[in-house]
Amino acid sequence: MNYIFLDLEWNQPFGKAEIVTRSVPLYGEIIRIGAVKLDEAMNETDRFQGCVIPKYYKKMNRCVGKVTGLSGASITYGQPFQKEYERFEKWCGDDCIILTWGSEDERILDSNLAIHKMDRAHPKFYDIQKIFAYKTMGTGKQYSLISAVEHLGLPAELKAHDALNDAVYCARVGVAMSFSEYIGGYEQMLREIEEYRSEKYFRTFMNVESVESAMKNKRIILCRCPVCRRIMKRSKWVFYNPTGVICCCECKNHGEYYSRLKMKKCADGTYAVTKKYTRMTEEYREFYNRNAAKETLGHESQTDNNKLTVQ
Ligand SMILES: [Zn+2]
Repeated sequence: MNYIFLDLEWNQPFGKAEIVTRSVPLYGEIIRIGAVKLDEAMNETDRFQGCVIPKYYKKMNRCVGKVTGLSGASITYGQPFQKEYERFEKWCGDDCIILTWGSEDERILDSNLAIHKMDRAHPKFYDIQKIFAYKTMGTGKQYSLISAVEHLGLPAELKAHDALNDAVYCARVGVAMSFSEYIGGYEQMLREIEEYRSEKYFRTFMNVESVESAMKNKRIILCRCPVCRRIMKRSKWVFYNPTGVICCCECKNHGEYYSRLKMKKCADGTYAVTKKYTRMTEEYREFYNRNAAKETLGHESQTDNNKLTVQ
């Protein structure tokens, strides 16, 4: 099997009104195809450069020109999309998977195939940006290709935003992180990322009068499960500092969460209250119990000049 690291460059319409919508909306028309081929041992075996004459967006979009460094004249030569894509397909070989930085290239390719009525399946795409973020950085964030190159300490001598150069960079990042180990578990990884995202659920309430009024606002103090949105059972809200409150909650289908309110005073004197849920851990539970105990003690010894504790 071949691993194909692919990068596409596409021209864009000048505005919404100019978007061509034949069978599908065409948000970008492919003008360059850059690819690097690796064998199963992750050794580079070949490179591909394709140059397409646009059929729909024939004038270079200024922003695209700026980013790619391509001139208006540079899209007046090349081959029609169909011919160039068929050459690419043949070059890929029968047994391959495609790796790209981000998920946009696949969407753009799909719409280009559809608009040219090239009704065929393409090889399966894998998003190396997602693999990098999750496996190397432990997040679901989107990193730029060049920041990944720098993070891994790889050579960065090529000009970025050129189709072939970006494919080369993408392959370097992939090889440096032994991408092939993650291909088998890719679908599972996507599910984990989705879960991770939903567990990081948070929401901000604006124009809240005071900390006290926040704690009386039903919408703020009610806890809904970040997955199914059902109202969760919860413990008492406990202050861990004057503008931070926590509680433990539980959805009978999705388990236990730790919920935190953070109140930030705005310039106009009102508060912005952010509510955030994370999966319950032992550390969180301990932190909650410690603060709950402290608060109880505070109540017992409460005097007139100790009114800061809010119920
Ligand atoms: Zn739930």
